[in-house]
Amino acid sequence: MSTVLSFWLELRLLLITFFIVLIVLPILAMLTLTNFGFQDVSDKLVTVNAKNHTVEIHDLDGTTTTITETMIWPVNGVVTLEFGQPDPPYQPLHTGIDIANPEGKQGDSIHPFMKGTVIYAGEDLSGYGKHVIINNGNNITSLYGHMSAINSKVGATVNTSEVIGYEGQTGWATGPHVHFQINVYGIPVNPRTFLMGNP
Ligand SMILES: [Zn+2]
Repeated sequence: MSTVLSFWLELRLLLITFFIVLIVLPILAMLTLTNFGFQDVSDKLVTVNAKNHTVEIHDLDGTTTTITETMIWPVNGVVTLEFGQPDPPYQPLHTGIDIANPEGKQGDSIHPFMKGTVIYAGEDLSGYGKHVIINNGNNITSLYGHMSAINSKVGATVNTSEVIGYEGQTGWATGPHVHFQINVYGIPVNPRTFLMGNP
């Protein structure tokens, strides 16, 4: 008798587990990964102080760090894809902003959006083609993708006046543009929030 009971109990647990894993979790993931969810996480991590227009980083424990460094657009051009927009077939949601030359040319100079140290300069299978990643301090990193040529080396200290590479279309790109991405604590955030103080 007790064996039969425990069998039904086990079956019920199994069914509940299946229900959670196959139905509840995918729905939760879908809700979290919508454009709103993506932007919502970004808005919790990075904000612009309305009074003095400085950018503020919010730690998970409630600590706020004010960024006072100069911030610039890494390249002149038009934004062809915003942060959080669907980007099939490359990404479910775009992790940065794409900035393209208005005439579709390549070779425009790319600058670091903020001073920092180069931690990657090369090409791998990530789809970003020739790209540079900079550690900007305060748990901020920035990535500049699809370069036609890299003009920087790992370990170099760079500021906003320096040229780290040139706009191109290496990697997964259908035309010349810079994929400009900012991560905070490794999480992609909307670069426009950072650039708001210095449009
Ligand atoms: Zn992109």
